[in-house]
Amino acid sequence: MPGTELFGAEERKEIEDVLSTGVLFRYNHDALRNSHWKAKDFEAEVKKITGAKFAHAMSSGSTAIATALAASGIGTGDEVIVPPFTYVATIEAVLFVGALPVFAEVDETLCLSAEGIKKAITPKTKGVCLVHMCGGMADMDSIMKVVNDHKLILVEDAGQSFASSYKGVYTGLFGKAGSYSFDFFKIATAGEGGVLVTNDEATYKLSDNYSDHGHDHVGEKRGMEQHPIIGMNYRISELHAAVGVAQTRKVPAIKEKNRHNKQFLVNELSKTAGIGFATLPDPSGDSATFLNLLLPDTETAKRTVDEMNKAGVVGFDYWFLNMYHFINQWDHIKELRTASKLPIQVLGAPQDYKNLQLPKTQEVIGRLISFGIKYKWTEEDMKTLASKISECVTKAMKPVHA
Ligand SMILES: *Cc1c(COP(=O)(O)O)cnc(C)c1O
Repeated sequence: MPGTELFGAEERKEIEDVLSTGVLFRYNHDALRNSHWKAKDFEAEVKKITGAKFAHAMSSGSTAIATALAASGIGTGDEVIVPPFTYVATIEAVLFVGALPVFAEVDETLCLSAEGIKKAITPKTKGVCLVHMCGGMADMDSIMKVVNDHKLILVEDAGQSFASSYKGVYTGLFGKAGSYSFDFFKIATAGEGGVLVTNDEATYKLSDNYSDHGHDHVGEKRGMEQHPIIGMNYRISELHAAVGVAQTRKVPAIKEKNRHNKQFLVNELSKTAGIGFATLPDPSGDSATFLNLLLPDTETAKRTVDEMNKAGVVGFDYWFLNMYHFINQWDHIKELRTASKLPIQVLGAPQDYKNLQLPKTQEVIGRLISFGIKYKWTEEDMKTLASKISECVTKAMKPVHA
């Protein structure tokens, strides 16, 4: 992934600032820290790119999405519509705030569809946790219509879609709150980290309190601060934030290169029969971290994966069989296997998770093969990759019957 490809002097300089003072904590210690405020700088960089009014850096994308849900007023017993194709953290966050996930259909955008959301609404539905997958974006005009018509709370997990936008609005900023992940696999990394964004001051303040034991962060003395609500420790350290600052500054260049490289591959691959692409509701807002191929059907996709493994093609994901991104492998969730009792085990699941009917999702994800776009690819690298992919798809389209 691009961020990790570009780890270098800029990241080391930011880390060195923190090490030179020893203030690894994001709050207070004004006299000791020599004006270094890396978490604040990280938030400023995220605001600069997204235009968010408020940004709050935290320990991970997972804690950021959990905080976004809680600060948006989603809690115990609330039904929340979620996608069956996402990193499993989305579902965990809904469960851990006490809410009840209701799985709905995704479509060729790889995100929840307006149609899918509408069908999953019940009188108990409080909100939607929309996930913008694979560097792209959901079809926001149609989704916002359903959200507004039914007065639902929208929270966006844009964990994989930092710096992507739809009609000029950045993912994460359509609903009450949104979150980005800066783990090791995203467009930019902090090592571990997440950033919550919102345009609503009250939601921001609640998030700030919630993610630091309720602290209101007013005054100079940490032990004398007020605690308006009960919170937890989801703080980011200054060392992680330092890496996040340097990496986020590189995102505009990464995005431009991603888009160039992705377009090159799309141009090469469009000529091959059988290769289609996931739908981008606003192609101009694509962060282009992934090239998402849609094959004609699941069997052809599986044969393509076999051919690519035989040919030594690397750097792709076949999500349909992935343990962490697709519901077919989430036995632990379907069986609600937990370390200790969660609210859902007391209240009851809103759906029969073991017998979900999601035919559209099965069809789309079965056909999907994604390649992570690399910053440092040369034109030669991309030509070689494209011709290998084409060969594998062509072979898979004409299976040899024994
Ligand atoms: C990566 C990711 C997360 C989790 O982020 P972490 O920083 O690893 O906790 C959440 N949701 C989505 C969609 C992700 O891709």
